[in-house]
Amino acid sequence: MAAAAPTSVKIARRGLMLVISSPSGAGKSTIARTLMDRDQQISLSVSVTTRQRRQSEIEGVHYHFVSQREFERLRDSDSLLEWAQVHGNYYGTPREAVETAMGEGRDMLFDIDWQGAQQLQEKMSADVVSIFILPPTMAELQSRLHRRAEDTEEVIQTRLNNSRAEIKHWREYDYVIVNDDLNSAFDAVQSIVKAERLRRDRRHGLFDFVEGLIA
Ligand code: 5GP
Repeated sequence: MAAAAPTSVKIARRGLMLVISSPSGAGKSTIARTLMDRDQQISLSVSVTTRQRRQSEIEGVHYHFVSQREFERLRDSDSLLEWAQVHGNYYGTPREAVETAMGEGRDMLFDIDWQGAQQLQEKMSADVVSIFILPPTMAELQSRLHRRAEDTEEVIQTRLNNSRAEIKHWREYDYVIVNDDLNSAFDAVQSIVKAERLRRDRRHGLFDFVEGLIA
């Protein structure tokens, strides 16, 4: 009699908190969006911000746009898992969506700055995988910010001035990618996610699986 075809094995694992940071214009948001499109297992943490909505942005998709007062209410009622002031505006990660996703073993992607990355590392280091994206040159960063053409010259200058301070935190991240080619940078992110999902200490279902295997 022919042996039965093996069925696919699903081993339960804890969700991944994938944190991606970079200075504005290094390509982080494009990489994050591509990952969301191609990987059904991962969902994006939608932050709250007091920043003005850009024309291309949609409420609830890119951010929840809130007033300063609403932001303070959320922060003071402990509804934010982390928060920071970036380029003169406030940004924060709503706690509930993250806790629900993590409780269900789903992966979450965080497009947040170094201050937010530090706070998540402190609170949930076992689940956090952090990636820092660097531009190939500062001139390229500047031209990407201009090409985006959604911010005023003043905003672009603030972001450029802040980018060196942001880059100084590169050592605090698990992985660092130089984005000189978007496809290669995206492939690198995908490889990191793939490998991190296979880590033994993240796969709590392995114990039962192996015990069953050798029983
Ligand atoms: P932008 O205004 O270009 O959308 O974002 C500006 C910066 O704020 C980016 O570096 C972005 O990653 C960061 N950011 C966005 N949301 C959050 C958040 O919830 N928390 C923190 N700490 N940073 C955020």
